[in-house]
Amino acid sequence: MRIAPTSVPPRISAPRWRRFLPAGAAGLALGALVFFFNPATHGFYPACVFHSLTGWNCPGCGATRALHALLHGNVRLAWRDNALFVALLAGLVLYGFRFAGRRQKSSAGRRWAHCLWALVGASILFAVLRNLPGYEWLSP
Ligand SMILES: [Zn+2]
Repeated sequence: MRIAPTSVPPRISAPRWRRFLPAGAAGLALGALVFFFNPATHGFYPACVFHSLTGWNCPGCGATRALHALLHGNVRLAWRDNALFVALLAGLVLYGFRFAGRRQKSSAGRRWAHCLWALVGASILFAVLRNLPGYEWLSP
């Protein structure tokens, strides 16, 4: 007896938010770790390799302390630890609220490329400025 081929059932795509579930869970776990263990007083956080090698602050130096301060509601201390991180986080939250649930346009890839280049440029500028005399207020 021969079995007739059946048609392939239609693929049911998962909701868009499920794609971000692993990253969201990892972010929550990392946020809980930083919330309960202050990076300024607990030494198990990895040290910045760039700072260890050069003595200069990279664009990310102070970001963990800034996250800890933000999670405890201290925006001023967070801004002092890493202003770029706070600004990027605020921008990311605003972007998330603005585009949540919208369908992506065909130009979204080009927009992301522009954002990425702007981020690279801002990071380089921030890294240079925070290591110059007179801009110590940008250093953690
Ligand atoms: Zn660093």
